[in-house]
Amino acid sequence: MTDAARSKNVIIIGAGASGLLCAIECGKRGRSVLVLDHARRTGSKIRISGGGRCNFTNRNVTAGHYFSRNSHFCKSALARFTPRDVLDLVEKYHVAYHEKEAGQLFCVKSSTDIIALLEAECARFGVEIRLKCRVTDIVHGRDFMVATDQGTLRTESLVIATGGLSYPDLGASGFGHAIGKQFGLKVVPPRPGLVPFLFAARDQKVFHELAGISLDAAVSCGARRFRGNILFTHHGLSGPAALQASLSWNTGEPLTIDLLPETDILAEFMSRRRSKIEMRNLLAAYFPKRFAEAWCGQMTISKPLDQTSDKELKTIADGLHAWKMLPKSTEGYATAEVTSGGLDTDELSSKTMEAKKVPGLYFIGEVVDVTGELGGYNLHWAWASGFAAGQVA
Ligand SMILES: Cc1cc2nc3c(=O)[nH]c(=O)nc-3n(C[C@H](O)[C@H](O)[C@H](O)COP(=O)(O)OP(=O)(O)OC[C@H]3O[C@@H](n4cnc5c(N)ncnc54)[C@H](O)[C@@H]3O)c2cc1C
Repeated sequence: MTDAARSKNVIIIGAGASGLLCAIECGKRGRSVLVLDHARRTGSKIRISGGGRCNFTNRNVTAGHYFSRNSHFCKSALARFTPRDVLDLVEKYHVAYHEKEAGQLFCVKSSTDIIALLEAECARFGVEIRLKCRVTDIVHGRDFMVATDQGTLRTESLVIATGGLSYPDLGASGFGHAIGKQFGLKVVPPRPGLVPFLFAARDQKVFHELAGISLDAAVSCGARRFRGNILFTHHGLSGPAALQASLSWNTGEPLTIDLLPETDILAEFMSRRRSKIEMRNLLAAYFPKRFAEAWCGQMTISKPLDQTSDKELKTIADGLHAWKMLPKSTEGYATAEVTSGGLDTDELSSKTMEAKKVPGLYFIGEVVDVTGELGGYNLHWAWASGFAAGQVA
């Protein structure tokens, strides 16, 4: 290896969304940039995101859509790289996109369009990408020495863009958290986020046969309430509203699920007070029949309406509007879309993502304790934090 190959202005570890965007920005400034990744391809998570069509940003990006110990931290980066900036890039490469609900922007064809544009921009600004490269050690003296299985490299700026722990099959590792700790930086304990819940034994017995049923619901966890579908799986609950709730769920806490968020079901019962219709048949007008059967078989009484007391009707209505579901756990990192927690934002400059105690060391993307809701917010954080570091690294 020549000296030029061994020495770079910027080394970025992680060729995912945040790392590649940061590399492009550094390259634009004329910096010599090398991106290292132990995977065999760039952008593995981008490839599978949004079901292969990559929900690459959201028109409604604001700090309110993010979870972090410091809810203000993400504001500066989000203000400087907006959904419009993402679209400028996407439109420059003529990538067809469309808007789904709530401002979510998806590729029409494939997520690989986004990877291709990132790679093209990297090539345009002279960014070198080295894949299947394992980093074994980092030593900080005047510069950073990065030991890899392909030799040791020197760099002035080192950017950690290694993502979180979710989907270990795609190259996820705890590397970024370990580097943070190596440099004496605090790490907010990581945990799986945007992940399905698993039923406790009692609910598993009642609901395991409902796999595939999806209901419009509102799932509350702590002070947050998430509207959207829930989906019964063979072992628990998934679907957008349940996944979102996992972001604020702590082990041992119940979820409160409103199964009829748009309907005052007690008023409906009262309006048919003298009817002889049995509860399971009445509920079948609001839910799939299989669900109404299971609910009435196990969770509530099912009698003709005119034989059910007002008190019983109130209990049934309360149960439907506030089903207390105590999950056993979540499915964990194997199926979590993101990792919550990560590098404590106290340790970083919100403008540049540089570690306050270690000049020249940067953390961007999912490895940082900033986690977005479902809907393109996580990729947007990856772009915005990568852009912020890319202006100075
Ligand atoms: C199934 C799924 C669907 C998703 N869908 C969406 C979506 O539609 N919209 C959205 O906004 N978000 C989505 N996300 C989340 C989003 O993909 C991530 O938040 C985002 O890609 C994180 O970007 P990143 O650059 O921080 O990390 P990553 O994209 O995870 O990149 C990290 C890179 O670092 C590399 N790496 C890790 N450890 C090492 C190491 N020790 N040495 C060298 N390299 C290393 C990895 O191989 C990887 O290439 C989805 C996630 C999943 C799993």
